Amino acid sequence: MIMDLASPVEDVKGIGPKTAELMHKAGIFSLRDLIYHLPRDYENFQQAQKISDLRPGQVTVRAKVDDVRLSRKGRGLTIVEASLRDQSGAVRAVWFNQPYRAKQLDSTKEFFFTGKMEFSFGRYQLMNPAVNVADDVEKINIDELQPIYPARGSLKSQDFKKFIKAIDNQIALVPDMIPNFPGRAEALFNVHFPEDIANAKSGRDYLATEELFCLLLASRLNRQQNEKLKTEPIVADIEALKKLIAALPFKLTNAQRRATWEIIQDMNNQTPMNRLLQGDVGSGKTMVAALSAYVAAKAGVQTALMAPTEVLANQHAESLAKTFGNELRIALLTGSTKHKDELKRHIKNGEVDLVVGTHALITDDTEFKNLGLAIIDEQHRFGVAQRQKLLAKAHTMPHLLSMTATPIPRSLQLTIFGDLAVSILDELPAGRQPITTKIIARNGQEQMWRDIEKELSQKHQVYYICKKIDESNASELSSVKKEFNRIAKKYKNYNVGLLHGKMKPAEKDEVMTLFSNGEIDILVSTTVVEVGVNVPNATVMAIADADQYGLSQLHQLRGRVGRGAASSYCYLINSKDAPSRRLREVENSQDGFYLAEVDLKLRGPGEIYGSLQHGALDLRIATITDTKLIHKADLLVKDFVKHNYNVLEYKELSAAVRKYQRLTTLN
Ligand code: ADP
Ligand code: MG
Repeated sequence: MIMDLASPVEDVKGIGPKTAELMHKAGIFSLRDLIYHLPRDYENFQQAQKISDLRPGQVTVRAKVDDVRLSRKGRGLTIVEASLRDQSGAVRAVWFNQPYRAKQLDSTKEFFFTGKMEFSFGRYQLMNPAVNVADDVEKINIDELQPIYPARGSLKSQDFKKFIKAIDNQIALVPDMIPNFPGRAEALFNVHFPEDIANAKSGRDYLATEELFCLLLASRLNRQQNEKLKTEPIVADIEALKKLIAALPFKLTNAQRRATWEIIQDMNNQTPMNRLLQGDVGSGKTMVAALSAYVAAKAGVQTALMAPTEVLANQHAESLAKTFGNELRIALLTGSTKHKDELKRHIKNGEVDLVVGTHALITDDTEFKNLGLAIIDEQHRFGVAQRQKLLAKAHTMPHLLSMTATPIPRSLQLTIFGDLAVSILDELPAGRQPITTKIIARNGQEQMWRDIEKELSQKHQVYYICKKIDESNASELSSVKKEFNRIAKKYKNYNVGLLHGKMKPAEKDEVMTLFSNGEIDILVSTTVVEVGVNVPNATVMAIADADQYGLSQLHQLRGRVGRGAASSYCYLINSKDAPSRRLREVENSQDGFYLAEVDLKLRGPGEIYGSLQHGALDLRIATITDTKLIHKADLLVKDFVKHNYNVLEYKELSAAVRKYQRLTTLN
């Protein structure tokens, strides 16, 4: 019998109500969900190595254990450590949040361990290896590759193995999802029950292509749909704009001119603009946004500029009022705005041209007279629903400009943004002082603090950034708090502030406001300061354990300083004794796009675009750098379009595509 892929997991033999509930918790509801719960790796017992021969990377060893230790850290974190031994030597293994390992690891037995050998916390160790009793393994067919499934809650790899084995005949009969792309059942079968690694990889490539196809088709369908939307064109008064630009206190960069021009052309259209403005930190995105708002105001429509935090909204409103105060009627609307009702009346009556605000902009009682342009700063901080709420404030679909400071290498833009129009600010305003960047050795911090004291004595301010939450370490709070206590004790004459992700938004905002008003001299913080804050008086950015961050992230953090006239400094404190090639790249370059490319080469996309990949894009099988597969998927999409297939006639496909469509659509 062929089961429908949509049938519930309860239909699988061996899955009772209890297991089903665990599955549901893990987001696995249908047969399809279960079949797409793919192995994260394979065990190859035949290739067990001697411990003395181990190299970093995926390894399997056959060993006895001793010295098993279970410890509990804060926030429910448990760590099991053990020493694995064979005749050639010993190596440590660590498991996070798998307390049952302590019981399982019987020192009288032999086991196979399969996992990644990594360098962390000062030595090589096996991280979260899968464990199999050697006798058991030898009873089964040792020639076969054994899949390792990602555990979910109390459902272990072994459980998934059992259930998936129970439906192997179903897997072999799965119909293709994409027309003219045969081989799906075979691919799924190869991934779950491979004969060899090449076999498993070819299966995975097929499924990755399938996934990329859905993503690319979604963005194409979105573009088609967006092109059908109608809006009021905004016709620019070019003469007025030129005059305004000429009167600015500085010269626009060429990149700013180009981006503004692209936006003006997009807005002068009956199809609503859907453009992303991507610019390195400090490249002047706000100015481009302001010029666009000016064009809109001159054409008689309102603009809303939404920022993710109150500090940012305040800053935008302040700097825009300074530059455009006579040309634009600007208002600030945030949670703490006084006389909100009155302000909202003004907005509704059209007495305000540009409303800068936070989420307060999208509350139900905020109404516009004629919202024509919506601008979202730091767009990755907002969800789809919030963007749609803002757009819904207009009577017809408004033009949309999203802004982001995450530099995405050009090579990846097609996959990430599909057919979204992108403007890039790849140039910093002239006369900006480069930020002197120095790598600090672990034991070289005294000199650094002496240099920092010089800055403090000139009334300049300092950021000191600590490592974020690390699952394998004590919690984030203790480390950032520890540093805070140490620094506060040492610098009694200065005001030292503390900022971290566990604080309430209002508390965070308050600390940031104190810092931006100069009432805090040294801000000890986790990376929550990343978002576009502008404190020109801050001249030092010191980053502890800098080698633990992505280059793009370091670059963004560095971009918090160098915003004023004084010279600025960035100290990258190396947590290791070995010199770091990656840190040297940051020391030598101030180009965010370049650093993003380097990051991509050195670390792969997962680390850098992890959040994008799992949040916005939700790619589970493919990665955004699978260029060959992207090309293949792109050809398949073209074929699909050429044949005029109607996606709605393919039930499973259209559900998969719809998920991605929600991410970039306007309505
Ligand atoms: P970001 O792109 O990181 O959001 P901002 O818009 O905050 O950058 O701009 C950073 C700073 O540069 C602001 O103080 C802004 O006034 C200034 N600025 C913007 N454009 C120019 C320019 N063309 N010349 C000089 N300074 C500029
Ligand atoms: Mg900004």
